[in-house]
Amino acid sequence: MRFHVLTLFPGLFESVLSYGVLGRAVEQGHLGLELTDIRDFSRDRHRTVDDRPFGGGPGMVMRPEVTAAAVDHARARMPAEAPVVYLSPQGETLDHQKVAELADLPGLTLLCGRYEGIDERALESRVDRELSIGDYVLSGGELAALVVIDAVSRLQPEVLGEPASAAEDSFVEGLLDCPHYTRPQDFEGRAVPEVLLSGDHGRIRQWRRQQALARTWERRPELLRERGLSGPERALLSE
Ligand code: SAM
Repeated sequence: MRFHVLTLFPGLFESVLSYGVLGRAVEQGHLGLELTDIRDFSRDRHRTVDDRPFGGGPGMVMRPEVTAAAVDHARARMPAEAPVVYLSPQGETLDHQKVAELADLPGLTLLCGRYEGIDERALESRVDRELSIGDYVLSGGELAALVVIDAVSRLQPEVLGEPASAAEDSFVEGLLDCPHYTRPQDFEGRAVPEVLLSGDHGRIRQWRRQQALARTWERRPELLRERGLSGPERALLSE
């Protein structure tokens, strides 16, 4: 999968995306990452990208012709089916279902705003979709774009060393994940649940399922209401 990021701060991506599973996937060519500095499309010698808002008020607005030229540059390099996504607190809120949908695309162009945002006319003419990472306001779209890249990338089959680990993650089946334990067997008087030491894979699988159901019921009951329960799951939950 390919990502093309349009930003005023490309350096923010280079460091974050050089670590962990994503860093490895970029290095091995499973993920394509292109960074374009929106400032390169400024038309004046001061490399200006923003201006005062019409109508007055605080803050600056990203100029439409600069942003539009940066988007056109990315679009010419990306597959035709790769949408241009503007990260915005006013967009649709990201969740697992939307991440899974985006993960099926050949690529994404991610447009990061700064200041008060981008001139509305550039958004109307160049953007296919707006995505928010939650109901709060960030100083720029870069952290939101990194969240999208991370969440979407880990659903690519080549990116995680062990693809099964993503299949059991929270939200994938409409449930939260079960709790996890490692050595030592006793930590400050807290023991690892006996079943996990039993070597009985059937019992372990059933225990994990029961924990996932119980945890979802306690912490996010609305997820269970949306998803529903099978007969055996209902029995496990009431055990
Ligand atoms: N004035 C804008 C508003 O209230 O809707 C907020 C602008 S914000 C300071 C600057 C940039 O950060 C936005 O253009 C957007 O790209 C990004 N941003 C802020 N909050 C975000 C969120 N929750 N999700 C995605 N992007 C966000």
